[in-house]
Amino acid sequence: MSSSPPQELRRIQALSTLLIDKIAAGEVIEAPFSVIKELVENSLDAGAQNMQVETEGGGMERISIEDDGHGIHPDDLRLCLQRHATSKIRELDDLEKLYSFGFRGEALAAIGAVSRLTIRSRQASSPVAHCMESRGGRIVTTNVVAAPVGTAIAVNELFYATPARRKFVKSERSENMRITGELRKLALAHPSVSWRYIRDAKPRLHWTRATSLQERIGQIFQPQLLDHLLAVDFEYQGMRLHGFISDEDYYRANREGQYSFVNGRSVEIQNFGWLVKKAYGELLAPGSHPWSFLFLEVDPARLDVNVHPRKLEVRLLDHSQLYSLVQGALDPVLRPRMPLSMPWSRSRTFTDRQQSMDVLSHFKSQHPRMPGLE
Ligand code: ADP
Ligand code: MG
Repeated sequence: MSSSPPQELRRIQALSTLLIDKIAAGEVIEAPFSVIKELVENSLDAGAQNMQVETEGGGMERISIEDDGHGIHPDDLRLCLQRHATSKIRELDDLEKLYSFGFRGEALAAIGAVSRLTIRSRQASSPVAHCMESRGGRIVTTNVVAAPVGTAIAVNELFYATPARRKFVKSERSENMRITGELRKLALAHPSVSWRYIRDAKPRLHWTRATSLQERIGQIFQPQLLDHLLAVDFEYQGMRLHGFISDEDYYRANREGQYSFVNGRSVEIQNFGWLVKKAYGELLAPGSHPWSFLFLEVDPARLDVNVHPRKLEVRLLDHSQLYSLVQGALDPVLRPRMPLSMPWSRSRTFTDRQQSMDVLSHFKSQHPRMPGLE
Protein backbone atom coordinates (compact mmCIF):
# COMPACT_ATOMS: atom_id res chain seq x y z
CA MET A 1 0.00 0.00 0.00
CA SER A 2 1.41 3.42 -0.91
CA SER A 3 1.65 6.08 1.74
CA SER A 4 -0.68 9.08 1.26
CA PRO A 5 0.87 12.19 -0.34
CA PRO A 6 1.96 15.07 1.88
CA GLN A 7 -0.79 17.47 2.90
CA GLU A 8 0.23 20.26 0.49
CA LEU A 9 -0.03 17.91 -2.53
CA ARG A 10 -3.64 17.12 -1.75
CA ARG A 11 -4.73 20.72 -2.29
CA ILE A 12 -6.44 21.54 -5.59
CA GLN A 13 -4.61 23.64 -8.16
CA ALA A 14 -5.43 24.52 -11.73
CA LEU A 15 -2.87 23.05 -14.16
CA SER A 16 -0.89 25.39 -16.39
CA THR A 17 -1.96 25.69 -20.03
CA LEU A 18 1.31 24.18 -21.20
CA LEU A 19 0.84 21.15 -18.96
CA ILE A 20 -2.79 20.76 -20.10
CA ASP A 21 -1.59 20.84 -23.72
CA LYS A 22 1.00 18.16 -23.01
CA ILE A 23 -1.60 15.92 -21.38
CA ALA A 24 -4.16 16.53 -24.13
CA ALA A 25 -1.54 15.95 -26.83
CA GLY A 26 -1.79 12.20 -26.27
CA GLU A 27 -5.44 12.23 -27.33
CA VAL A 28 -4.77 14.03 -30.58
CA ILE A 29 -1.46 12.54 -31.55
CA GLU A 30 -0.66 8.96 -30.85
CA ALA A 31 2.45 8.51 -32.94
CA PRO A 32 4.27 10.06 -35.94
CA PHE A 33 1.64 8.90 -38.44
CA SER A 34 -1.06 10.82 -36.59
CA VAL A 35 1.08 13.98 -36.69
CA ILE A 36 1.39 13.52 -40.45
CA LYS A 37 -2.34 13.06 -40.79
CA GLU A 38 -3.08 16.26 -38.88
CA LEU A 39 -0.51 18.31 -40.78
CA VAL A 40 -1.57 16.98 -44.17
CA GLU A 41 -5.22 17.65 -43.39
CA ASN A 42 -4.32 21.24 -42.54
CA SER A 43 -2.56 21.52 -45.91
CA LEU A 44 -5.60 20.08 -47.69
CA ASP A 45 -7.88 22.49 -45.83
CA ALA A 46 -5.59 25.25 -47.14
CA GLY A 47 -6.25 24.08 -50.72
CA ALA A 48 -2.80 22.56 -51.33
CA GLN A 49 -2.27 20.83 -54.68
CA ASN A 50 1.26 19.61 -54.05
CA MET A 51 2.28 17.91 -50.88
CA GLN A 52 5.74 16.92 -49.81
CA VAL A 53 6.23 14.81 -46.72
CA GLU A 54 9.62 13.93 -45.26
CA THR A 55 10.46 11.81 -42.26
CA GLU A 56 13.58 10.74 -40.43
CA GLY A 57 13.90 7.97 -37.88
CA GLY A 58 10.32 6.74 -38.28
CA GLY A 59 9.12 10.32 -37.80
CA MET A 60 10.47 10.48 -34.24
CA GLU A 61 13.52 12.51 -35.22
CA ARG A 62 11.87 14.70 -37.78
CA ILE A 63 8.67 15.11 -39.78
CA SER A 64 8.31 17.88 -42.27
CA ILE A 65 5.45 18.79 -44.53
CA GLU A 66 5.54 21.39 -47.23
CA ASP A 67 2.46 22.56 -49.11
CA ASP A 68 1.46 25.14 -51.70
CA GLY A 69 -1.76 26.10 -49.94
CA HIS A 70 -3.00 29.60 -49.09
CA GLY A 71 -0.72 30.02 -46.09
CA ILE A 72 -1.24 31.60 -42.67
CA HIS A 73 -1.55 35.32 -42.04
CA PRO A 74 1.61 36.54 -40.21
CA ASP A 75 -0.52 37.95 -37.38
CA ASP A 76 -2.12 34.53 -36.87
CA LEU A 77 1.12 32.60 -36.68
CA ARG A 78 1.33 32.79 -32.89
CA LEU A 79 -2.30 31.74 -32.55
CA CYS A 80 -1.57 28.43 -34.31
CA LEU A 81 0.02 27.14 -31.13
CA GLN A 82 -2.87 28.15 -28.96
CA ARG A 83 -5.36 25.44 -28.12
CA HIS A 84 -8.86 25.88 -29.59
CA ALA A 85 -7.65 28.56 -31.99
CA THR A 86 -8.99 27.82 -35.48
CA SER A 87 -9.87 29.60 -38.70
CA LYS A 88 -12.41 26.90 -39.60
CA ILE A 89 -15.42 27.43 -37.37
CA ARG A 90 -16.78 30.45 -35.58
CA GLU A 91 -19.87 29.09 -33.87
CA LEU A 92 -21.51 25.80 -32.93
CA ASP A 93 -23.83 25.84 -35.95
CA ASP A 94 -20.80 25.68 -38.24
CA LEU A 95 -20.32 22.07 -37.13
CA GLU A 96 -23.50 21.16 -39.01
CA LYS A 97 -22.09 22.34 -42.32
CA LEU A 98 -18.52 21.31 -41.84
CA TYR A 99 -16.51 20.44 -44.93
CA SER A 100 -13.02 21.05 -43.57
CA PHE A 101 -10.93 18.34 -41.93
CA GLY A 102 -10.03 20.42 -38.93
CA PHE A 103 -12.19 22.49 -36.62
CA ARG A 104 -11.05 21.81 -33.07
CA GLY A 105 -7.93 23.95 -33.26
CA GLU A 106 -6.04 21.37 -31.26
CA ALA A 107 -3.51 19.73 -33.53
CA LEU A 108 -0.79 22.34 -33.74
CA ALA A 109 -1.09 23.16 -30.04
CA ALA A 110 -0.77 19.46 -29.23
CA ILE A 111 2.12 18.82 -31.61
CA GLY A 112 3.86 22.01 -30.47
CA ALA A 113 3.53 21.02 -26.81
CA VAL A 114 5.52 17.81 -27.30
CA SER A 115 8.13 18.74 -29.91
CA ARG A 116 10.41 21.39 -31.33
CA LEU A 117 8.26 22.90 -34.01
CA THR A 118 9.03 25.26 -36.87
CA ILE A 119 6.27 26.84 -38.93
CA ARG A 120 7.08 28.86 -42.01
CA SER A 121 4.26 30.34 -44.02
CA ARG A 122 3.70 32.83 -46.80
CA GLN A 123 0.44 34.09 -48.25
CA ALA A 124 0.21 35.21 -51.89
CA SER A 125 -0.32 38.83 -50.81
CA SER A 126 3.01 38.90 -48.97
CA PRO A 127 6.48 39.15 -50.58
CA VAL A 128 8.09 37.19 -47.75
CA ALA A 129 7.42 34.25 -45.47
CA HIS A 130 7.18 34.47 -41.70
CA CYS A 131 8.79 31.84 -39.58
CA MET A 132 8.25 30.80 -35.98
CA GLU A 133 10.07 28.27 -33.86
CA SER A 134 8.78 26.80 -30.61
CA ARG A 135 9.97 24.29 -28.02
CA GLY A 136 7.52 22.44 -25.85
CA GLY A 137 4.84 24.97 -26.82
CA ARG A 138 6.91 28.09 -26.03
CA ILE A 139 7.79 30.36 -28.92
CA VAL A 140 11.56 30.82 -29.07
CA THR A 141 12.14 32.76 -32.29
CA THR A 142 10.24 34.49 -35.05
CA ASN A 143 11.80 35.87 -38.22
CA VAL A 144 11.21 36.73 -41.84
CA VAL A 145 12.62 34.57 -44.62
CA ALA A 146 12.39 34.20 -48.39
CA ALA A 147 10.19 31.23 -49.36
CA PRO A 148 7.48 30.30 -51.87
CA VAL A 149 3.76 30.77 -51.12
CA GLY A 150 2.48 28.01 -48.87
CA THR A 151 3.34 26.48 -45.53
CA ALA A 152 6.19 24.33 -44.31
CA ILE A 153 6.00 22.74 -40.90
CA ALA A 154 8.83 20.77 -39.30
CA VAL A 155 8.33 18.69 -36.19
CA ASN A 156 11.61 17.71 -34.54
CA GLU A 157 12.10 15.27 -31.68
CA LEU A 158 8.49 14.36 -31.23
CA PHE A 159 7.58 13.54 -27.62
CA TYR A 160 11.02 14.70 -26.40
CA ALA A 161 9.18 16.37 -23.55
CA THR A 162 6.99 13.35 -22.76
CA PRO A 163 9.27 10.33 -22.41
CA ALA A 164 6.34 8.19 -21.22
CA ARG A 165 4.64 8.56 -24.58
CA ARG A 166 7.88 7.87 -26.41
CA LYS A 167 7.94 4.42 -24.88
CA PHE A 168 4.67 3.54 -26.59
CA VAL A 169 5.87 4.39 -30.04
CA LYS A 170 6.65 1.24 -32.01
CA SER A 171 9.88 0.35 -33.79
CA GLU A 172 11.12 2.66 -36.53
CA ARG A 173 10.09 0.07 -39.10
CA SER A 174 6.52 -0.19 -37.78
CA GLU A 175 6.21 3.58 -37.57
CA ASN A 176 7.39 3.85 -41.19
CA MET A 177 4.75 1.31 -42.19
CA ARG A 178 2.04 3.22 -40.36
CA ILE A 179 3.16 6.43 -42.08
CA THR A 180 2.99 4.84 -45.53
CA GLY A 181 -0.44 3.42 -44.68
CA GLU A 182 -1.67 6.85 -43.64
CA LEU A 183 -0.28 8.47 -46.79
CA ARG A 184 -2.06 5.87 -48.93
CA LYS A 185 -5.40 6.71 -47.34
CA LEU A 186 -4.84 10.43 -47.72
CA ALA A 187 -3.74 10.05 -51.33
CA LEU A 188 -6.75 7.86 -52.18
CA ALA A 189 -9.07 10.49 -50.81
CA HIS A 190 -7.32 13.19 -52.87
CA PRO A 191 -6.40 11.88 -56.32
CA SER A 192 -5.98 15.37 -57.78
CA VAL A 193 -3.25 16.27 -55.29
CA SER A 194 0.32 15.26 -56.06
CA TRP A 195 2.28 13.55 -53.30
CA ARG A 196 5.94 13.03 -52.65
CA TYR A 197 7.30 11.14 -49.71
CA ILE A 198 10.96 11.22 -48.76
CA ARG A 199 12.10 8.85 -46.04
CA ASP A 200 15.51 9.17 -44.41
CA ALA A 201 16.67 11.39 -47.29
CA LYS A 202 15.57 8.86 -49.95
CA PRO A 203 12.60 9.46 -52.25
CA ARG A 204 10.09 6.68 -51.45
CA LEU A 205 6.82 7.55 -53.15
CA HIS A 206 5.74 9.89 -55.85
CA TRP A 207 2.12 9.90 -56.90
CA THR A 208 1.57 12.56 -59.50
CA ARG A 209 -1.72 14.39 -59.84
CA ALA A 210 -4.29 11.79 -61.03
CA THR A 211 -7.45 12.51 -62.95
CA SER A 212 -9.51 9.77 -61.29
CA LEU A 213 -9.66 7.53 -58.27
CA GLN A 214 -8.98 4.58 -60.56
CA GLU A 215 -5.75 6.15 -61.78
CA ARG A 216 -4.70 6.82 -58.19
CA ILE A 217 -5.46 3.21 -57.18
CA GLY A 218 -3.25 2.09 -60.09
CA GLN A 219 -0.43 4.36 -58.89
CA ILE A 220 -0.55 3.04 -55.34
CA PHE A 221 -1.30 -0.68 -55.73
CA GLN A 222 -0.51 -3.48 -58.19
CA PRO A 223 -1.64 -2.60 -61.73
CA GLN A 224 -3.48 -5.97 -62.04
CA LEU A 225 -5.93 -4.74 -59.44
CA LEU A 226 -7.32 -2.32 -62.01
CA ASP A 227 -8.52 -5.23 -64.17
CA HIS A 228 -10.60 -6.49 -61.27
CA LEU A 229 -12.27 -3.30 -60.12
CA LEU A 230 -16.01 -2.86 -60.32
CA ALA A 231 -17.46 0.63 -60.15
CA VAL A 232 -20.07 1.30 -57.49
CA ASP A 233 -22.33 4.32 -57.29
CA PHE A 234 -25.62 4.17 -55.47
CA GLU A 235 -27.88 6.50 -53.57
CA TYR A 236 -30.28 5.60 -50.84
CA GLN A 237 -32.19 7.77 -48.41
CA GLY A 238 -30.02 10.81 -49.03
CA MET A 239 -26.76 8.87 -48.68
CA ARG A 240 -24.47 8.04 -51.57
CA LEU A 241 -21.92 5.23 -51.73
CA HIS A 242 -19.42 5.28 -54.56
CA GLY A 243 -15.98 4.00 -55.45
CA PHE A 244 -14.66 0.59 -56.44
CA ILE A 245 -14.70 -2.95 -55.15
CA SER A 246 -12.76 -5.95 -56.43
CA ASP A 247 -14.53 -8.75 -58.27
CA GLU A 248 -14.71 -12.19 -56.68
CA ASP A 249 -11.49 -13.27 -58.43
CA TYR A 250 -9.31 -10.76 -56.64
CA TYR A 251 -9.14 -10.90 -52.87
CA ARG A 252 -6.80 -10.91 -49.92
CA ALA A 253 -6.36 -12.99 -46.81
CA ASN A 254 -6.79 -9.92 -44.60
CA ARG A 255 -8.79 -6.72 -44.57
CA GLU A 256 -5.89 -4.48 -45.47
CA GLY A 257 -7.23 -3.81 -48.93
CA GLN A 258 -10.36 -2.15 -47.53
CA TYR A 259 -10.56 1.60 -47.46
CA SER A 260 -13.58 3.56 -46.30
CA PHE A 261 -14.14 7.28 -46.36
CA VAL A 262 -16.95 9.46 -45.14
CA ASN A 263 -17.25 12.86 -46.80
CA GLY A 264 -13.66 12.54 -47.94
CA ARG A 265 -12.32 11.58 -44.51
CA SER A 266 -10.68 8.19 -44.00
CA VAL A 267 -12.56 6.75 -41.06
CA GLU A 268 -13.83 3.55 -39.58
CA ILE A 269 -17.55 3.08 -39.89
CA GLN A 270 -18.96 0.61 -37.44
CA ASN A 271 -19.68 -2.80 -39.06
CA PHE A 272 -18.78 -1.52 -42.50
CA GLY A 273 -16.21 -4.22 -43.33
CA TRP A 274 -18.66 -6.86 -42.25
CA LEU A 275 -21.42 -5.38 -44.39
CA VAL A 276 -19.15 -5.29 -47.44
CA LYS A 277 -18.09 -8.91 -46.89
CA LYS A 278 -21.72 -9.89 -46.43
CA ALA A 279 -22.64 -8.37 -49.78
CA TYR A 280 -20.19 -10.79 -51.45
CA GLY A 281 -21.84 -13.68 -49.60
CA GLU A 282 -21.05 -17.00 -51.23
CA LEU A 283 -18.84 -15.35 -53.87
CA LEU A 284 -15.90 -15.30 -51.46
CA ALA A 285 -14.60 -18.23 -49.46
CA PRO A 286 -14.38 -17.78 -45.68
CA GLY A 287 -11.12 -16.02 -44.82
CA SER A 288 -11.00 -14.16 -48.14
CA HIS A 289 -11.53 -10.43 -48.11
CA PRO A 290 -12.29 -8.16 -51.02
CA TRP A 291 -10.53 -4.96 -51.93
CA SER A 292 -12.75 -1.95 -51.55
CA PHE A 293 -12.36 1.77 -51.94
CA LEU A 294 -15.71 3.08 -50.84
CA PHE A 295 -16.72 6.67 -50.31
CA LEU A 296 -19.83 7.48 -48.35
CA GLU A 297 -21.31 10.93 -48.82
CA VAL A 298 -23.83 12.11 -46.28
CA ASP A 299 -25.24 15.43 -45.25
CA PRO A 300 -22.84 16.68 -42.54
CA ALA A 301 -25.90 17.36 -40.39
CA ARG A 302 -26.60 13.59 -40.38
CA LEU A 303 -23.09 12.81 -39.23
CA ASP A 304 -21.31 13.23 -35.94
CA VAL A 305 -17.58 13.60 -36.50
CA ASN A 306 -17.08 15.00 -33.05
CA VAL A 307 -16.95 11.58 -31.42
CA HIS A 308 -13.22 11.21 -31.11
CA PRO A 309 -10.47 13.85 -30.89
CA ARG A 310 -8.53 12.13 -33.67
CA LYS A 311 -11.71 11.84 -35.72
CA LEU A 312 -11.02 8.17 -36.45
CA GLU A 313 -14.63 7.21 -35.96
CA VAL A 314 -17.81 8.79 -37.16
CA ARG A 315 -21.32 8.21 -36.00
CA LEU A 316 -24.07 8.10 -38.59
CA LEU A 317 -27.52 9.16 -37.54
CA ASP A 318 -28.85 6.80 -40.22
CA HIS A 319 -26.67 3.87 -39.25
CA SER A 320 -29.54 1.41 -39.58
CA GLN A 321 -29.86 2.32 -43.27
CA LEU A 322 -26.28 1.38 -44.00
CA TYR A 323 -27.12 -2.28 -44.52
CA SER A 324 -29.53 -1.45 -47.31
CA LEU A 325 -27.15 1.08 -48.81
CA VAL A 326 -24.23 -1.35 -48.97
CA GLN A 327 -26.35 -4.25 -50.23
CA GLY A 328 -28.13 -2.03 -52.74
CA ALA A 329 -24.81 -0.69 -54.01
CA LEU A 330 -22.80 -3.90 -54.17
CA ASP A 331 -25.27 -6.61 -54.98
CA PRO A 332 -26.20 -5.55 -58.55
CA VAL A 333 -22.53 -4.94 -59.35
CA LEU A 334 -21.38 -8.30 -58.01
CA ARG A 335 -24.28 -10.30 -59.42
CA PRO A 336 -25.15 -8.67 -62.72
CA ARG A 337 -26.71 -11.85 -64.10
CA MET A 338 -28.90 -12.76 -61.14
CA PRO A 339 -32.13 -14.68 -61.83
CA LEU A 340 -34.64 -12.22 -63.31
CA SER A 341 -32.09 -10.60 -65.57
CA MET A 342 -31.15 -7.16 -64.37
CA PRO A 343 -32.00 -4.24 -66.59
CA TRP A 344 -28.52 -2.71 -66.35
CA SER A 345 -25.03 -3.79 -67.25
CA ARG A 346 -22.18 -4.71 -64.96
CA SER A 347 -20.02 -1.73 -65.79
CA ARG A 348 -22.74 0.86 -65.56
CA THR A 349 -22.72 3.22 -62.61
CA PHE A 350 -25.73 4.82 -61.03
CA THR A 351 -25.16 8.48 -60.67
CA ASP A 352 -28.69 9.44 -61.42
CA ARG A 353 -31.06 9.41 -58.48
CA GLN A 354 -33.91 7.88 -60.52
CA GLN A 355 -31.69 5.05 -61.70
CA SER A 356 -30.70 4.44 -58.12
CA MET A 357 -34.32 4.26 -57.11
CA ASP A 358 -35.00 1.75 -59.93
CA VAL A 359 -32.18 -0.37 -58.61
CA LEU A 360 -33.60 -0.08 -55.14
CA SER A 361 -37.12 -1.13 -56.09
CA HIS A 362 -35.74 -4.11 -57.99
CA PHE A 363 -33.58 -4.94 -55.01
CA LYS A 364 -36.55 -4.67 -52.66
CA SER A 365 -38.52 -7.15 -54.75
CA GLN A 366 -35.60 -9.57 -54.49
CA HIS A 367 -35.01 -9.09 -50.76
CA PRO A 368 -38.42 -8.33 -49.28
CA ARG A 369 -37.44 -8.91 -45.67
CA MET A 370 -34.25 -6.89 -45.55
CA PRO A 371 -34.25 -4.54 -42.55
CA GLY A 372 -34.31 -0.86 -43.42
CA LEU A 373 -36.04 -1.39 -46.78
CA GLU A 374 -39.56 -0.92 -45.50
P1 ADP B 1 -7.72 23.15 -36.96
O1 ADP B 1 -7.21 22.49 -38.19
O2 ADP B 1 -8.66 22.28 -36.20
O3 ADP B 1 -8.25 24.52 -37.20
P2 ADP B 1 -4.93 23.15 -36.13
O4 ADP B 1 -4.31 23.24 -34.80
O5 ADP B 1 -4.65 21.94 -36.93
O6 ADP B 1 -6.50 23.35 -35.94
O7 ADP B 1 -4.51 24.42 -36.99
C1 ADP B 1 -4.78 25.73 -36.44
C2 ADP B 1 -4.95 26.73 -37.57
O8 ADP B 1 -3.68 26.94 -38.21
C3 ADP B 1 -5.89 26.32 -38.68
O9 ADP B 1 -7.25 26.65 -38.37
C4 ADP B 1 -5.36 27.11 -39.87
O10 ADP B 1 -5.91 28.41 -39.89
C5 ADP B 1 -3.87 27.24 -39.58
N1 ADP B 1 -3.06 26.29 -40.36
C6 ADP B 1 -2.47 25.17 -39.91
N2 ADP B 1 -1.76 24.55 -40.88
C7 ADP B 1 -1.95 25.27 -42.00
C8 ADP B 1 -1.49 25.14 -43.36
N3 ADP B 1 -0.71 24.12 -43.75
N4 ADP B 1 -1.86 26.11 -44.25
C9 ADP B 1 -2.64 27.14 -43.85
N5 ADP B 1 -3.11 27.30 -42.59
C10 ADP B 1 -2.77 26.40 -41.68
MG1 MG C 1 -5.98 20.81 -38.21
